[in-house]
Amino acid sequence: MKVTEHIAQSKKTLVSFEVLPPLKGKTITSLYEHLDPLMEFKPSWVNVTYHRSESMFKKKVDGTFEKVEVRKRPGTVGICAAIMNHYRVDAIPHLICGGFTKRETEDALIDLNFLGIDNVLVLRGDAAKNESSFEPEPDGNRYAIDLLKQVGNLNHGIYLDEDILNGSKINFCMGVAGYPEKHFEAPNLEIDLQRLKEKVDAGAEYIMTQMFFDNSKFYAFVKACKGIGINVPIIPGLKPITSKKQLSVLPRIFHVDIPTDLSNGIMRCKTDAEVELVGTEWLTQQSKDLKEFGVPVLHYYTLGKPKVIHNVVKAIV
Ligand code: FAD
Repeated sequence: MKVTEHIAQSKKTLVSFEVLPPLKGKTITSLYEHLDPLMEFKPSWVNVTYHRSESMFKKKVDGTFEKVEVRKRPGTVGICAAIMNHYRVDAIPHLICGGFTKRETEDALIDLNFLGIDNVLVLRGDAAKNESSFEPEPDGNRYAIDLLKQVGNLNHGIYLDEDILNGSKINFCMGVAGYPEKHFEAPNLEIDLQRLKEKVDAGAEYIMTQMFFDNSKFYAFVKACKGIGINVPIIPGLKPITSKKQLSVLPRIFHVDIPTDLSNGIMRCKTDAEVELVGTEWLTQQSKDLKEFGVPVLHYYTLGKPKVIHNVVKAIV
């Protein structure tokens, strides 16, 4: 079922989860062990992230190095199929521009459609680790909006191959990313919001946000979106802080602020077990507040911390 249908049919705040594909070498069972305890909350769907390959230098027997492309977390499409099969829940693959030609993207979308997947989260992806800024493939999509238009074309039966006449229409519900604290490459929030509006005007039916730890930033973002005519559902993305290290890692990688009260609380902790308690309490309060505000869905980045997410969701349902 589409995300928009889940939202339209529900009278209460929905819950959804996001998982990473297991590292190469691990079985799908490790993912099930991660998700099993969370399924009691009957999530409306489970998102599966996409991780592009990285260039690495491997030492050869003669002592020289060779450059190899390694995908540490393959399997987004297969994992979506496995999750749908195992739990009978909708799975949403993250689809990125980076590393794909448009033809490869089209083939992947056809696979997803054959598997019965109704939703895709349409993203640009970040620059590859060896690039200073994002570069698309020579025949790839540059921005999320370009990928969105490609999916939108398939929804109208328009394939890349012009010889395909009366192509079957695919019916994906498309979500896009939004950034309450601005995407780090955008010159300012106003321009970033205009870009977001362009994605909505190009067919995005809902927005899923980057994590944030200060709800007032999310509320201001929702207000600003409404102010420029963005009227699709905006789903907050939520993540717990569980280690001291994250105080510097999260701002560096995700370009988000940690509010003073939270950072003070974390700095007072002696162990990461204590940080986990502070992070759980903070996320629980955030969730309660967002629920009261009337968000349609609380979307949790579970990322290796299902126990924490379990405790948070248990406290709010
Ligand atoms: P875009 O919407 O294309 O925007 C990228 C930048 O370009 C922004 O600064 C925007 O303002 C600007 N821009 C947009 N359109 C134009 C234009 N026409 N001209 C000039 N500038 C423009 N990454 C992964 O690799 N895998 C994942 O699974 C994944 N999941 C994510 C899930 C969520 C909910 C979020 C918020 C992010 C996720 N990301 C993921 C990270 C995401 O790929 C990066 O944040 C990426 O840098 C931007 O993606 P985007 O889709 O927002 O890009």
